[in-house]
Amino acid sequence: MENNLKPATWAKYHCNVIMNDTIKCQKCSNILYLNKKNNLYCLTCNTEIDQFYIKWKCMICSKEFSSETKEYNPFIFKIIKVTVKQTLFKGVEAKPPYIPCCKIAREQISSYKFFHKKECNELLYEGEMDNKKIVVCSKFHMLNYYYNYYWLCPICKKRYKLSHEYSNANNNNKSASEKNNSNSNINIDTIENNNRIKQKSINEFSKKK
Ligand SMILES: [Zn+2]
Ligand SMILES: [Zn+2]
Ligand SMILES: [Zn+2]
Ligand SMILES: [Zn+2]
Repeated sequence: MENNLKPATWAKYHCNVIMNDTIKCQKCSNILYLNKKNNLYCLTCNTEIDQFYIKWKCMICSKEFSSETKEYNPFIFKIIKVTVKQTLFKGVEAKPPYIPCCKIAREQISSYKFFHKKECNELLYEGEMDNKKIVVCSKFHMLNYYYNYYWLCPICKKRYKLSHEYSNANNNNKSASEKNNSNSNINIDTIENNNRIKQKSINEFSKKK
């Protein structure tokens, strides 16, 4: 019996979504684990699948994608969960600074409603994680960084990403006091990288043995 299996999550979800969930078995909806062969394994129905073989359906754009999977890190996902909660609690609607495709004056953007996709009717909210602005869909609790987010034009429903200029402006505009607070914020990327390095050295170590 393999009892020290780790729950799996996507290494890189489609549409730059920062996913805060484990991968579920497509047969029985229970959590999938990464086993020793680095395959996805369901403890409930014993299904074993090659992680590169599965096509997932993106919750944002509905396109199919494949992704490497990684170990679900409860600590990181707790941070994401708390951030989503705080963002929804604050209730500040997320709006892009501009719309490139349709002629909408910047002053008018605030009068439009923004959703993550056509079929979703729950608003997007803005918050902050790791000192960067984030967007959260209040229905699916999906989280993206502003600079990485694919906005949906409310008129023609085309998707677009903000230019670098706007993405960087968000970080440069911060006041000194906010910057000083950054030490108390947890850098998700750093944690993830450290974990990867740790995991790599463990793998290499066990290979040598
Ligand atoms: Zn997508
Ligand atoms: Zn299953
Ligand atoms: Zn448009
Ligand atoms: Zn949504």
